[in-house]
Amino acid sequence: MKDRKPSSIKVSIRESGLRATPARIATLELLMESPTPLTHAEVSAELDGRGVDKATVFRNLNDLVGAGLLRRAELGDHVWRFEAIKDDGHDSSSHPHFVCIDCGHVSCVDQKKLTAYIERMSNTIGEVTEVLLRGHCNDCST
Ligand SMILES: [Zn+2]
Ligand SMILES: [Zn+2]
Repeated sequence: MKDRKPSSIKVSIRESGLRATPARIATLELLMESPTPLTHAEVSAELDGRGVDKATVFRNLNDLVGAGLLRRAELGDHVWRFEAIKDDGHDSSSHPHFVCIDCGHVSCVDQKKLTAYIERMSNTIGEVTEVLLRGHCNDCST
């Protein structure tokens, strides 16, 4: 993200063809600031205090995915997680995620070489939509 000001979030939403409602801005802002992908429940819990109900959160998440501002990932536990697609030109395809099988914590694996390798793999074996690493996070393995 070059610019984290809410006004630039508003612009991104408008440029994607959606109306920049306060709820959408809050949703996108939350996900842009989050270091990890968030579930619908987590986003709802966060925005509840701002008067955005669960159904609105759900609709907005899907709208933002459709508009190409968010990415949706299912990491083997049948729960959709959402994350902002960062505007650095190299993040249009999915990056790997690490999921701890003990506590369920999800981390983004921002490893450029690995991401580039996956992109090349996509050209030979088919479109890779999700790469998942599972194991025990540092907190759980000690
Ligand atoms: Zn863990
Ligand atoms: Zn991620």
